[in-house]
Amino acid sequence: MDNIKTIFKEKKLKLTPQRIAVYKYLCSTKEHPSAEIIYKALHSDYPTMSLATVYKALKTLLSVNLVQELNVGEGNFRYDANILTHPHIQCISCGRVDDIEEISFENLNEKVKSYTDYKVLSHKIYFYGICNKCKKE
Ligand SMILES: [Zn+2]
Ligand SMILES: [Zn+2]
Repeated sequence: MDNIKTIFKEKKLKLTPQRIAVYKYLCSTKEHPSAEIIYKALHSDYPTMSLATVYKALKTLLSVNLVQELNVGEGNFRYDANILTHPHIQCISCGRVDDIEEISFENLNEKVKSYTDYKVLSHKIYFYGICNKCKKE
């Protein structure tokens, strides 16, 4: 939690309780929630916080690189407090998104270089499948 205080101070951004709450919530979960889910999860503790405030808080957190935004190909974005590049897998049945751990595609930027004249900066990898829970149903 110290990093949010330091970064906000550096960037001269106002560290509001709502922004802290959104960041804390994202740090506490590995479920890659959407803005709506964050809004619902925080509603009992922050009854006056609107969905628009959650979106604004996320935008601010994104701008200072404290969270990353995932577009798994559905209408809404998911958010992740793990900002390191890591692959994700989404269940095509229930929509849950998980990290795929312990596999690295770090040298992929390097590999791709010989196939493009672009300067390669980054990549995002999403896998799709059926989660354990949906497999059983
Ligand atoms: Zn599922
Ligand atoms: Zn993730």
